[in-house]
Amino acid sequence: MTSTPTFGIIGAGMSGILAAVKLQEAGLDFRVFEKADKVGGTWRENTYPGIACDVPSHIYSYTFALNPEWSYFCSPGSEIQTYFETVVDRYGIDDRIRFDDAIVDCRWTEDERWKVETASGYTETFDFLIAATGILHHPKLPPIDGVDTFAGPSFHSARWDHDVELDGKRVGIVGTGSSGVQITGALANRAAEVKVFQRTAQWVMPVEQTEYSESQKEDFRTDADLLTETHDNLQEAFNTGFATSILDKESGMSDAIEARCREILAGLPEELQAKVTPDYRAGCKRLVVSHNWYDAIQTDSVEIVTDSIASIEPTGVRTEDGELREVDVLVLATGFKVDAFMRPMTIAGIDGVLLDEAWADRPSAYMAVAVPGFPNFFMLNGPNSPVGNFSLIQTAEMQFEYVMDMVERVRDGQMPLAMVTEEAAARFEDERTEAAGDTVWATGCRSWYLDDRGIPFAWPFPFDRFRREMAEPRLGDYVTA
Ligand code: NAP
Repeated sequence: MTSTPTFGIIGAGMSGILAAVKLQEAGLDFRVFEKADKVGGTWRENTYPGIACDVPSHIYSYTFALNPEWSYFCSPGSEIQTYFETVVDRYGIDDRIRFDDAIVDCRWTEDERWKVETASGYTETFDFLIAATGILHHPKLPPIDGVDTFAGPSFHSARWDHDVELDGKRVGIVGTGSSGVQITGALANRAAEVKVFQRTAQWVMPVEQTEYSESQKEDFRTDADLLTETHDNLQEAFNTGFATSILDKESGMSDAIEARCREILAGLPEELQAKVTPDYRAGCKRLVVSHNWYDAIQTDSVEIVTDSIASIEPTGVRTEDGELREVDVLVLATGFKVDAFMRPMTIAGIDGVLLDEAWADRPSAYMAVAVPGFPNFFMLNGPNSPVGNFSLIQTAEMQFEYVMDMVERVRDGQMPLAMVTEEAAARFEDERTEAAGDTVWATGCRSWYLDDRGIPFAWPFPFDRFRREMAEPRLGDYVTA
């Protein structure tokens, strides 16, 4: 290892920016590789109408860059994108990011460093490699008959075409996850007709859209303690209260959410109520949160279509009952391939073993950060991370502290390199898999939380355990000689 370790960071989204800022502050050398032409990750890619974060903005912020300017309790996506760009500017890390050049290969070399190669042929070597590529970035297109035959504009929710006129048009939306629900809310009063093709009803938790007043923002600007307190209190209430309880199927949180949703559902016309009332536990699929879904679906322009889609045709969507609903624009809000992570790039560890081989069954990571056979390699928000309704920023911050802890131990000679043992990884995987069966995610629904065996892949333990594991790495789980 070089006397001052160097770091390659894959991706300039939320986690990659975090890693870059922290490494810069620590005076360490790094380069960030970004396949696109600007930072922001999911917030750069998802620009659909109505996009917002449903985690409160004051906790969807880095602890080192709390933001007094958030306009809403849950702010719109464009504001979040601006926030990340502002952080990059403020910390001056822009010139450490290599844009528009996707990594194609990362390889552990004989001199025990990571050699990174990009699509343009650029290569650079580093002591440590941090993958900060996120989970939800490979759009999943539905395998529906004729999906390519639609004659009008058609795009995935994460590839929104802003040149396409929507006002006064007939828009079809396939999917009612968080994206489809937000798009429906935004288009209900813009499009002439919105046909929402719903395969499974969602629990949609109604929330107020609370705007911060100028005077509240001024208070945040002038009182740093207030800003910190707001962040800390919200984080405590949200992550250790709401987000943790909802994953425990016995906690009663699901009952409380269902009861709140049912109050609203009871006020809907009977036929609509029957269509949009789920038949599984709240929280089993990722809970959708919305300030305008229930109003939107009662708008004359919106139709919830529950008949299965038979095919997509040049002029619209045909359902199994034979009816063709003609639309001008077709939006596929059909989610993401969640098992790709940093792939399709190749990552080769010790003896040239590929991550694809290590993950031949499915992606997994010890403590959600490390993989045996891949030394000095860590992931932020990688496989088995806490997802669900947690703040991924808090998760990434804790993971990064863990990474730095391990780096320090390598630097001061406590371990030759940072590599988890096969045994520890297998033990963690067994324990994680067993615990996953007790979560609300395993109570009987189809969702992107489930792996190919139908087992939830996310961190299944209380968030406090995650906090503890990240704060105190189990050194005995790492290779020592
Ligand atoms: P998603 O939750 O995976 O939802 C995909 C939707 O498409 C589901 O309604 C699904 O139906 C439907 N679908 C998929 N394939 C289909 C097919 N072949 N035929 C018919 N319907 C099909 O995707 P998403 O809405 O993009 O959200 C993904 C995640 O992104 C969220 O869970 C959340 O973590 C994150 N997100 C967050 C926010 C936020 O506010 N923070 C906003 C957007 C997204 P089934 O339910 O039957 O599978």
